[in-house]
Amino acid sequence: MTRTGPVDAARWYVAATVAVAVLGTGWCVAYLTVGAGSEAIAYVFVPVGGALATASIRRLARGGAGRRFWRAVLLAMGAITIGYAWLAVDMITHAAEARTRSTPVPAAACVALGFLIAIWGLARVPVAATGGVERWRMVLDRTIAFLGCAAALWYVGPAPMLSAREPWSRQAILLVGLGFVVAVGAATKVSYIAGGPVDRVAMRLIAAGGGVPAGVVAVLAVQFGYIASVPAQAIVMPLAPVLLTLGVAAQGRADRGLRRDTGGAGVLLPYLAMVAVDVPLVAVAFGAPLRWPVRVALIAAVVVTALVTVRQYLAYRENARLLENTRVQEERLQYEVSHDGLTGLPNRALFRDRLAAALATAGPVSVLLVDLDDFKTVNDLLGHGVGDRLLVSVAGLLRAEAGDAGLPVRVGGDEFAVLLAGDGAGPEDLAGRLLAALSRPISEHRLLVQASIGIADAGPDATVDSVLLDADVAMHTAKQGGKARFMRYADGMREPVLAYMQLGGELRRALENDEFRVVYQPIMRLGDNRLVGVEALIRWHHPARGVVGPAEFIPAAERTGLIVPVGRFVLRETCRQAAAWLAEFGPDALKEAGLNVSARQLHDPDFVAEVASALADCGLPCERLVLEVTESAVLRGRQVSRALYELDRMGVRLALDDFGTGESSLSLLRAFPAAVIKLDKSFVDGIEIDDGRPAAADARKAVARAVIQLAHALGLDTVAEGVESAEQVAVLRDLGYTVGQGFHLAEPMTADGVSRLLARQQSGALHL
Ligand code: C2E
Ligand code: CA
Ligand code: CA
Repeated sequence: MTRTGPVDAARWYVAATVAVAVLGTGWCVAYLTVGAGSEAIAYVFVPVGGALATASIRRLARGGAGRRFWRAVLLAMGAITIGYAWLAVDMITHAAEARTRSTPVPAAACVALGFLIAIWGLARVPVAATGGVERWRMVLDRTIAFLGCAAALWYVGPAPMLSAREPWSRQAILLVGLGFVVAVGAATKVSYIAGGPVDRVAMRLIAAGGGVPAGVVAVLAVQFGYIASVPAQAIVMPLAPVLLTLGVAAQGRADRGLRRDTGGAGVLLPYLAMVAVDVPLVAVAFGAPLRWPVRVALIAAVVVTALVTVRQYLAYRENARLLENTRVQEERLQYEVSHDGLTGLPNRALFRDRLAAALATAGPVSVLLVDLDDFKTVNDLLGHGVGDRLLVSVAGLLRAEAGDAGLPVRVGGDEFAVLLAGDGAGPEDLAGRLLAALSRPISEHRLLVQASIGIADAGPDATVDSVLLDADVAMHTAKQGGKARFMRYADGMREPVLAYMQLGGELRRALENDEFRVVYQPIMRLGDNRLVGVEALIRWHHPARGVVGPAEFIPAAERTGLIVPVGRFVLRETCRQAAAWLAEFGPDALKEAGLNVSARQLHDPDFVAEVASALADCGLPCERLVLEVTESAVLRGRQVSRALYELDRMGVRLALDDFGTGESSLSLLRAFPAAVIKLDKSFVDGIEIDDGRPAAADARKAVARAVIQLAHALGLDTVAEGVESAEQVAVLRDLGYTVGQGFHLAEPMTADGVSRLLARQQSGALHL
């Protein structure tokens, strides 16, 4: 045997009550046409249908959101069914006098009790919570609606029953009246229970169940008198159980979420009620035999209420329009505060909200943090307009790749994110696709941008902040790993990145506290070890960590832009020191002083002017200053090129640092006014090893030879970097190098150390 589901059961009851109503109709037709059987049979159909309806309510009374209400309906329906069963038994046992018998008092009492319970149940259905004026408005509306409907129904029902030629029993009038009260109570409540436990469709069907039979019975009775009781009992009243079982089915569907209650303010009801009141008034004014002054007064009353109703309705329409405007404006405002104006993507605030909501669910949540690489350069070189359009293109790309699976957002600046919630495509897949899409030129400028992507998955007790921090850490790890890649957050990633991120703040403090020092590494003539120049190298005297080398903080200084003030300090310090040495030891003591300049400094529009003023302030001739730049810094566009040419025109010498490690060192020499080439340490390392095999050492030697030949051809000076042994010196000299820099020749030292060296050199020269 299969168990019937709640939906099937509800349908079954509807079908059963319909069957009862059809049987009743069939019998009634037979009785009225052929006069089959006894009139008493007419009273059987209502209690049978009522019993079925009562049974159908049981399930809702046991469980479900509106069970308090349905329990009252169950009781009410039970009492009404018992009352009608009593009546049926009474009629059948007194079949002969069926036509003249009035409803036995106990039966009427049961039915009346049932109606009262239904009214009580209806009264207790909670309405949508409102307070203050709104609450009073609702009470007024409902009273208007109730009285209006009741007046109209009174006019069609109990009133004519009371004044009928064949007077009705008090019981019958009472029951019709109570049926109306149930109907009007349910009808006027419907509008105010949206979103509550009791379904509105069910409530409407209950209203119809009370009102339709009561109304039809009243009209039939008034029109046809007692003869109407047969069709009333057999055809009309069995409709009440049908409507009730339909209501039960509707509530069941709503409980299982199969249908959504769309709400509704119920604002039209009072207007309808006012129109309803006018109906009997109009009927009386034109129908009844009245003296004309009374008629005029009645018509005036009708017209006035009708006009007031129209006026009220217009005011309501206007209010509704204003409310709609406000709602639209509110929505726009809401959109504006939660979206990025440039790209139209959701912004950080909305992102955080959505992330919090996603974390509250049990499903998997991942965040991709997408940071464009070197976006600043695009902005600096091509202007903000191009930068903006690039961001819009990236946003479009993000939208396309994320699809329906993820929420793309602009977190700020050149930083984007995608929120992935639920099981869909993996975040790595998406990251891979994004990088691939970015590897093609985008926007009308056919720009190539790359991005570093950090991926974080939300663990069991992740918070919005912890997930974002993880993604940030992963993204920075990707950047440090060489950009244009993605990284998934892993344990142990956090500490180094956080330390790195904190570095920015610490550097600022260090600058204020004068914690930076400059040391100088002598650049020596190979052979006689005479000092020809120095390279300034920065050191950070950290209060806790001791002396920190530039490799540990220059990248952070570049990232934060602090390299500009830090570099300014090195420039000023080096110029001052070089001028002091020249003053103390004479113009031949050292030929020049070099310092390192990073790309970020060359981008600074004030850089050239700053160099000029540093030289002027210290009285250092331009040609004594060497600015060391790397290939990657030189290849940074027009602004940098212009700065380099201006410096060259001023007479400042430019050195290509780490020469040979880049990709286009040779072609660079044509495009760039270099005066010095610094052969990178990697070509000096192991250059002296000669085991007869044409191995790596020979390759290095070949590069070193090519570089010196090139330098000679172009008339450039050379410095061999990272010289660590006498053997290397010998090989370099063989190749034609005359100047070197390295620990073997001299380590970086303080200015005093260089002064001592210069002093010794001067006295040595004197001794010669
Ligand atoms: P660089 O311009 O190539 O500077 C030479 C680096 O090689 C220095 O390291 C120096 O101490 C080291 N060095 C010199 N001779 C030898 C040797 O024989 N063997 C070995 N193994 N190393 C040797 P340092 O001072 O740590 O500087 C590292 C980098 O930091 C520099 O590389 C330069 O790119 C950057 N840097 C240093 N000072 C500044 C500065 O004031 N501004 C900027 N923008 N960058 C700087
Ligand atoms: Ca250098
Ligand atoms: Ca170098």
